[in-house]
Amino acid sequence: MLIKNKAWPQLKKNEPLIIAGPCSAETEEQVMQTAKALKSDNRVNIYRAGIWKPRTKPGSFEGVGSIGLAWLRRVKKEFGIPVAIEVANAKHVGEALKAGIDILWIGARTTANPFAVQEIADALKGVDIPVLVKNPVNPDVALWIGAIERLSKAGITRFGAVHRGVSQFEKSSFRNNPEWQMVVELREQLPDILLINDPSHISGNRELIHKVSQTAMDLNFDGLMIESHIEPDNAWSDAAQQVSPQQLTTILNRLIIRAETPEGIELKNIDELRKSINFIDEQIIDLLSYRSNVIKDIAKFKLNNGMTVFQKNRWSSLLAKHQKHAEKLSLDPKLISKVFHAIHQNSINTQNNLLNKSDKIT
Ligand code: PEP
Ligand code: MN
Repeated sequence: MLIKNKAWPQLKKNEPLIIAGPCSAETEEQVMQTAKALKSDNRVNIYRAGIWKPRTKPGSFEGVGSIGLAWLRRVKKEFGIPVAIEVANAKHVGEALKAGIDILWIGARTTANPFAVQEIADALKGVDIPVLVKNPVNPDVALWIGAIERLSKAGITRFGAVHRGVSQFEKSSFRNNPEWQMVVELREQLPDILLINDPSHISGNRELIHKVSQTAMDLNFDGLMIESHIEPDNAWSDAAQQVSPQQLTTILNRLIIRAETPEGIELKNIDELRKSINFIDEQIIDLLSYRSNVIKDIAKFKLNNGMTVFQKNRWSSLLAKHQKHAEKLSLDPKLISKVFHAIHQNSINTQNNLLNKSDKIT
């Protein structure tokens, strides 16, 4: 895979790559007016617009289709900006390439389907075009990487991974839960990939976009894909999350871009703090090891006295006690609950293994 800086000439040092444009191309006028207004902010590097729209339910606006290709070609010609569209099958790829589209993206629903990704990869054999791959709708990093691998095997060398969050059953303030740890994992496996955040589909409403974008910048993302529309409230799809070109400018102005290791700073103080953190982490591990030895003794007792592994009342009172204690120390009780659920689950597994290995342990 090519190093991202060579693969993406639009990427500048300490500046996020900005992909902006409407969720959907609706009319030629809307596409051109949005592009013109976005172009007046010279930080916008790539223009996006969906022409084939994968909608959750039938009956919603499903995109203008092939007619929109000519509108994007006009944007490219008149404003000199590379254009990107979503492709979901071989027919889309064929038409996009014929129309001279510069960048393709694979949507979240498509990434989740290896048959569809393979069809796209086959249609791209021997073509040198950058492809952005959105994370699948479910929190499955292997599936995300699998899609990139299918394209890589077909000869694609320029990639971007777009983080757009994942579906969730429970209602939350996000339309798609960010699950930021997906990105940490992706980066561990593909350290050179261009990483773009899509705060629009994570947020689902424009008020949250700045906050999500700032988090992405603080996690060292390379860029942002932000849905922007000349009249967001009248958009034919995803109206609540689209911003006007002016609002986009405000969001970008407010962003604080911090460097991972800014030049010329004295690292001595943070080094000291990091030493403390390392020491604390080692102590946590030592304590967990000590705890697991006690667990083994408890397992022996339970086995020899015919007790069940899981003791419901003991577990709920313990968790409540730990959370109360944590709150007194100004720690988030949700964190404590997560940590102790993991510890407790592990302890149950250990005890189960021991209890079922032999009838009596001495
Ligand atoms: C989009 O970018 O308009 C889109 C449909 O996104 P996603 O595939 O992330 O839902
Ligand atoms: Mn959209």
